[in-house]
Amino acid sequence: NRQWTLASRPAGAPGKENFRLQTGALPEIEEGQLLLRTVYLSLDPYMRGRMSDAESYAEPVAIGDVMLGGTVNRVVSSRHPDYQTGDWVLSYTVGWQDYGVSDGSMLFKLDPAHGPVSHALGVLGMPGFTAYMGLMDIGQPKAGETLVVAAATGPVGATVAQIGKLQGCRVVAIAGGEQKRRHLESLGVDVALDHRAEDFAAQLSAACPKGIDVYYENVGGAIFDAVLPLLNTRARIPLCGLVAHYNDSELPAGPDRLSLLTSTILAKRLTVRGFIIFDDYADRYTEFAEQMGRWVTEGKIDYLEQVIDGLESAPEGLRGLLEGENFGKLVVRVGPD
Ligand code: NDP
Repeated sequence: NRQWTLASRPAGAPGKENFRLQTGALPEIEEGQLLLRTVYLSLDPYMRGRMSDAESYAEPVAIGDVMLGGTVNRVVSSRHPDYQTGDWVLSYTVGWQDYGVSDGSMLFKLDPAHGPVSHALGVLGMPGFTAYMGLMDIGQPKAGETLVVAAATGPVGATVAQIGKLQGCRVVAIAGGEQKRRHLESLGVDVALDHRAEDFAAQLSAACPKGIDVYYENVGGAIFDAVLPLLNTRARIPLCGLVAHYNDSELPAGPDRLSLLTSTILAKRLTVRGFIIFDDYADRYTEFAEQMGRWVTEGKIDYLEQVIDGLESAPEGLRGLLEGENFGKLVVRVGPD
């Protein structure tokens, strides 16, 4: 059994030196437990936060512990009444390893007849749920309004952009690079922009002639800077993530612009609300699963996935994800079906 453990806490971008690949014996199971083999491991931006011991909404991974993450697994053997050998499951307790033991908690059965099982790590799982609740509950989008979202080829952003279209919004979607920008056009958004363009702020302003009513915040940084002056009175900002800052170890240099932000919030009467998906919305998971399942089956929501090979590639995959090297929802294929 190979496992990636956390070797040290990164300063800046996480590198291979922050992880250790260990090999151990296959774990034994007791009554009430199951042995799981990992087929897919999800890589997600929040993992950077768990590598750090800075104060946060969740406990960090301890040095020497297996890195955490969502996985799609096969049941290898079961002494649990609800599971049989061969079942497909989604687990949140196995993490970055080939095999793990579960007692059935944080474990959900998957039906391969309903589509690719890996989609439970993306559009039909945590990222899709995040997109749905943040946009619908906090963003409150209305037909004819302008919605802006960045990291828009990723599993959260792409889902937000497409739900926005289903709600009748004018959707301005942002991603890094021409290839990603073109993919956004194929999703049917109204305007697709590359945030790396030199005149990005001017392009965003031209794309939002009636201002911005909903800014779904995934990244922060220069994109939020360009958005701020375009926000309309009573605009809503679901504050979902700030991936542009996850590798920062100190505040950026430059003038203090906090008062510009707070005076804009006041004058424009903005709603800015942060949320942590399962902490804040666990009771609405069924509503999400039914609605999103329907949209995906009907072909109304498109989903892009990037699969990289082998458990050994996980650390490099996470580093690249934080720098925009992924194209679509990033998953690692750890083992065969
Ligand atoms: P993505 O697959 O979209 O990956 C992150 C993307 O962020 C990169 O591909 C890159 O896209 C973009 N990015 C990175 N750095 C920058 C930068 N400096 N400026 C602009 N864009 C940048 O990730 P997810 O869809 O999984 O997650 C999106 C966001 O949602 C993250 O912030 C994540 O932390 C957050 N999240 C929050 C949850 C919650 O409960 N609040 C739950 C799940 C996710 P590009 O190349 O297009 O720039």
